Amino acid sequence: MKPAELMALGDKNIMATYRRFPLVLTRGKGCGLWDVEGRKYLDFVAGIAVCNLGHCHEAVVSAVKKQAETLFHISNLYHIEPQIRLAALLVANSFADKVFFCNSGAEANEGAIKLARKYASERMTPGRYELITMVNSFHGRTLATVTATGQEKFQAGFSPLVEGFKYVPFNDLEALEGAIGERTCGVLLEPIQAEGGIRIPDKDYLAGVRDICDRHGLLLILDEVQVGMGRIGKLFAYEEYGIEPDIVTLAKALGNGFPVGAVLAKDHVAEVFQPGTHASTFGGNPLAAAAALATLEVLLDSPVLDNCRRMGDYLVSRLAELAVRRAIIKEVRGKGLLIGIELNAEGGPIVEECIREGLLVNCIGGKVLRLVPPLIVSEQEIDEALRILDSVLQDK
Ligand code: PLP
Repeated sequence: MKPAELMALGDKNIMATYRRFPLVLTRGKGCGLWDVEGRKYLDFVAGIAVCNLGHCHEAVVSAVKKQAETLFHISNLYHIEPQIRLAALLVANSFADKVFFCNSGAEANEGAIKLARKYASERMTPGRYELITMVNSFHGRTLATVTATGQEKFQAGFSPLVEGFKYVPFNDLEALEGAIGERTCGVLLEPIQAEGGIRIPDKDYLAGVRDICDRHGLLLILDEVQVGMGRIGKLFAYEEYGIEPDIVTLAKALGNGFPVGAVLAKDHVAEVFQPGTHASTFGGNPLAAAAALATLEVLLDSPVLDNCRRMGDYLVSRLAELAVRRAIIKEVRGKGLLIGIELNAEGGPIVEECIREGLLVNCIGGKVLRLVPPLIVSEQEIDEALRILDSVLQDK
């Protein structure tokens, strides 16, 4: 079937929740993707900050192959060996004492919201169930997580939303403390707002949020779905800001492309989840857990995180040079390899031109180009991406 026919068949049969670019990508290796006709693209989207080790990383491929030949799925009615190993490795390398596995970022946040409410109902003064979240945040598309998301555009048409969420501006400690009431049980936020335009926290903001939560006896939940698993140069973003949360949610890069999510928590919080309180048929199934275990082992045992920090600095410094020459660039901001280029114009046409020139980037919130290449990206690949971006921006 020709690519155009294939895309038309997709449009006819798949709900139109995504506006897709006219590309059928069929193969990937490292930072490279190939379309159905064999044309190569440099991938600075990485499946939306998912393929942190690059496409088809050998260790992950081999773990999934081996697991697929042995056992796909048994359910959580039984003990699952790779899931046990994965949980132990996550606990050994994080603030957490316990892990709950699920399948996506929204599901991880949904689990965290339920965990916070259950904890509040059992351990806090009666009547506490409300979470404070941030304006411009993004936490997912289920009914509770889209309510937690502080952006009306994602909520339109889905009323009545879930009760028990309040929004305050990001980076505003006074507003946060002022919003705490007798129903508040916790604060849920992204350490760096990603979908909201790559918004970096002020220097002491997250320590301030931790302090407010401690003084008011509230749970601090960090959504690390996009920033976690090495994206900003540390395994978890909270490490970068010198704080310990009570709950962290993960998904995206956890399985390097294999769908898997997780809720990590301290023991005193995790223990309110008992048999029957929360569940997921596929959560941490053998295939997903094998993929995530292999991914985590590579992140821990290889120089990937170090490469992420070095290449992140290099990319930002090259973009700063570009910003001097190209007036369309308003600001470059980011941490590690989570980088946003705010433009003075709509980013959509730029993304399309980059794709025509062989570079995949995407645009968030209309005017921010997001660069999230695999963390294994090389200096040469960054140079090539910048060459394409420079030429696309030159007459803008
Ligand atoms: N939380 C954050 C911070 C995200 O960036 C996303 C997705 O972009 C989600 C949650 C939702 O994840 P998923 O699409 O896997 O449900």
